[in-house]
Amino acid sequence: MSGARATSTAPDFAVLGGGLSGRLVAWRLAGAGHRVALYESGGPDGANSAAWVAAAMLAPLAEAAVAELLITELGVASLESWPRILAELPEPVYFQRNGTLVVWHQADRTEAPLFERRVRANAPHWLADDGFVPLAGAQLDAAEPALAGRFARGWLLQGDGQLDNRQALRALAAGLAQRGVETHWNTTVDDADLPRARVTIDCRGLGAKSVLPTLRGIRGEVARVHAPGIGITRPVRILHPRYPLYVAPKQDDVFVIGATEIEGEDRSPVSVRSALELMSALFAVHPAFGEARVLELATNCRPTLPDHRPALIWDGAQTLRLNGLYRHGFMIAPEVADETVRCAQALFDGRVADADAFETLRRDSRWSDMLHVQGTREHA
Ligand SMILES: Cc1cc2nc3c(=O)[nH]c(=O)nc-3n(C[C@H](O)[C@H](O)[C@H](O)COP(=O)(O)OP(=O)(O)OC[C@H]3O[C@@H](n4cnc5c(N)ncnc54)[C@H](O)[C@@H]3O)c2cc1C
Repeated sequence: MSGARATSTAPDFAVLGGGLSGRLVAWRLAGAGHRVALYESGGPDGANSAAWVAAAMLAPLAEAAVAELLITELGVASLESWPRILAELPEPVYFQRNGTLVVWHQADRTEAPLFERRVRANAPHWLADDGFVPLAGAQLDAAEPALAGRFARGWLLQGDGQLDNRQALRALAAGLAQRGVETHWNTTVDDADLPRARVTIDCRGLGAKSVLPTLRGIRGEVARVHAPGIGITRPVRILHPRYPLYVAPKQDDVFVIGATEIEGEDRSPVSVRSALELMSALFAVHPAFGEARVLELATNCRPTLPDHRPALIWDGAQTLRLNGLYRHGFMIAPEVADETVRCAQALFDGRVADADAFETLRRDSRWSDMLHVQGTREHA
């Protein structure tokens, strides 16, 4: 561990990695009255994390096109929790729950029934039935006036939301300070020299590859542009056979356009090909984006396990590893963090000391599919 401050007595919990999940877990544990230390390679802004690059769409219904029921249900439950979490943080975070608009050009219309079939197959019936609102002509224009006349048909996926990822990271850092978490920014944890604590929670994302060898990165590239006066009010997904991209409006006329999905852990700058795809998607949504100013092209990698599910893995001793949040970290973080806190507290107070006790904890969990013992199945 480089650069860590020495502590006289070990804290209750050491949280390794202060991206999205590490901040949320540490903040929750400190809120429950525990002594918590957090170790993060990067600074308090979170610029080293996948969370810094993310679009932070909270879209369980739209994501049901590519995610299974566990993820959708974690996302639905987490969407209810986000406003409560944000209300407790000491700094404001832009949050919106205004749905996702899904549109397509006439030439790509065969994509629409495929998308609808996938969503309806993966989402719970009540969510798809209530949330999936077909729009045509004037209805579509009324729902998103900025796009009037541009698309003949679309769907409003009611209930989906989004937040500002960078404001959330900043507010969580302020929340950690407010709750007295001992933060070690710019401190890279070395597996051979772990910080002392009663319980360790490993939230290092891709940084945990040394202890989770099946973990892999999936590269994602996004663009941020400034486009005053366009006035799109909610995230728009554009169906396309090769580039299924989205445009998410944030505050102050900033739009996030994303995201590519490329196997591999290459964090080099955005390629020309990807930049062209992202900008084409933007222009296809509204030609007025032609005058937008490019603020940033950014890359990071989504931490992904072989089954593309989140996992909370117990090492059989005093360490929990939270990982595999893949492309849904923001969408599912509140529930995943709560479950991590529940398991971590059980380790801390001695309720879980052997495999049988962990199995009981797992069976009692609403999210039992997420809990594993290290060394079993693909979580080697
Ligand atoms: C392009 C892109 C778009 C995305 N869009 C969305 C979206 O719209 N909605 C959504 O829900 N999710 C989205 N995601 C996914 C989301 O960002 C991730 O799922 C989430 O950030 C994972 O959280 P994490 O805490 O596991 O990892 P991270 O956020 O990456 O945090 C891990 C932290 O651990 C630190 N670390 C690593 N190794 C060490 C070490 N040895 N010592 C100390 N610290 C260490 C890193 O510096 C990092 O800060 C997107 C991701 C990408 C890349």
